[in-house]
Amino acid sequence: MRTNDLTTIELAECVSAETGFELSRAIFVGGVSSGRDDWIGASYMKNPMRTFRGVQLADLPQLEKFTEQDRHEMRVVANLLPFKVNNYVLDELIDWSSAPDDPIFRMTFPVREMVPPRIYDLVSDALLNGVDRKQLEAIARKGRQDLNPHPSGQREYNVPLLDDEPVPGLQHKYRQTLLVFPSQGQTCHSYCAYCFRWAQFVGDADLKFAAPGPGQMTDYLRGHREVTDVLLTGGDPLIMSTPVLARWVTPLLAPDLEHVTNIRLGTKALVQWPYRVTSGPDADELLRLIEACATAGKSVAIMLHVSHPRELESEAAAAAVARLRSAGAIVRAQAPIIRHVNDSPHAWATMWRHMVRLGIQPYYTFVERDTGASAFFEVPLAHALTIFQQAQRAVSGLARTARGPVMSATPGKIAIDGETVVNGERLFVLRLLQARDEALAGTLFFAGHSESAVWIDQLTPALSPSWPWESSRDRTRPEPIEGVSR
Ligand code: SF4
Repeated sequence: MRTNDLTTIELAECVSAETGFELSRAIFVGGVSSGRDDWIGASYMKNPMRTFRGVQLADLPQLEKFTEQDRHEMRVVANLLPFKVNNYVLDELIDWSSAPDDPIFRMTFPVREMVPPRIYDLVSDALLNGVDRKQLEAIARKGRQDLNPHPSGQREYNVPLLDDEPVPGLQHKYRQTLLVFPSQGQTCHSYCAYCFRWAQFVGDADLKFAAPGPGQMTDYLRGHREVTDVLLTGGDPLIMSTPVLARWVTPLLAPDLEHVTNIRLGTKALVQWPYRVTSGPDADELLRLIEACATAGKSVAIMLHVSHPRELESEAAAAAVARLRSAGAIVRAQAPIIRHVNDSPHAWATMWRHMVRLGIQPYYTFVERDTGASAFFEVPLAHALTIFQQAQRAVSGLARTARGPVMSATPGKIAIDGETVVNGERLFVLRLLQARDEALAGTLFFAGHSESAVWIDQLTPALSPSWPWESSRDRTRPEPIEGVSR
């Protein structure tokens, strides 16, 4: 990668992923460098993006009412998990009069209960004893391994092969959809503390998925004509400048990839830094790129991550959504149900109403995954089902399009469809919406009811001795099309 291909954020990412102190001075704006000095547009000059990372969050002036013990706890957790916040989230989204209970604050700032006490104590002692940076990182690195950095078998099952070699930065779990992690897009405008991709951001190359360039993506796609959807993900692909993003998108428009009909961009930029789309230096160029995809017969789907209704109440976010739609993109929204953030029917019903008003289709309501800070954010499955059902009943049919609550687990996407009673036993009704073994997609099955279970591995099969996937053929890797070289 050439240096002038990096955004300034990416340059910062290259420096360090730990404390962020140096990074705050390196600061950035989410644009392209491209060798020019004048690339920061007028609106950015008025309101450039400033980011604060890691332990730096404990020293923000907004935290004046927090005690020194609170700040120590933040520093401990920030040495284990990645944290990053920008001035839009600080100034426009967080209600500081309600902090620390404010939902946007909760999803952004470190909290002691996010990590197991044993790991917390190790890092806390290290900090209090003033160990050097290298020792501290070694302790933190070990602690991260206990936080399940790659949930749902992403490492073991989903990495595809090209010429019998694993392809870095690609995941192929479901037959029709290829996930691509562009190396330049492996950060976000702000981090969600519950992020299941947190391992992408801790500066540990062993934990990170990253594709160095689009060449292997297109080679793989030529050999896999069953793939109709390519999801650029991360991180956030809209952290990349438009010219860098175009280097990943434009090859997908080639005539020999006509089987790729849907280009998906997984992003939270519209609600974390909407100026990326409304007034950034290459915002117009982004619209032209989307239009070029439409002209080439591709559908561009913005897979927008929305966690709380407030994120959609800003004028800037609404304008960003409208701009992308005006260029022909379809916007769908999804998020997990997160304790302290959106664990109420009111929050979800309000979000869905806002979405419909803005022309966004509610798509998925997920269950918080079993990784990272899940102990702090997880919601029992039974409660998640109640929240989802009550929220659905509170909105009109147009806003009832989300599927959920859904666990994105190793065998596939498992929806909790409801509850039933059979022979006097209370059961969950589950369904595989998507399955690694595609023959199982749509399969209904049952589990014993539980008030406390938070993930499929805490449930027990019911009306059957095993789960459907336990007797299915193992199809961990998609098979190439006959006659087409890999
Ligand atoms: S926007 Fe998505 S990838 Fe980025 S921190 Fe939040 S959940 Fe993770």
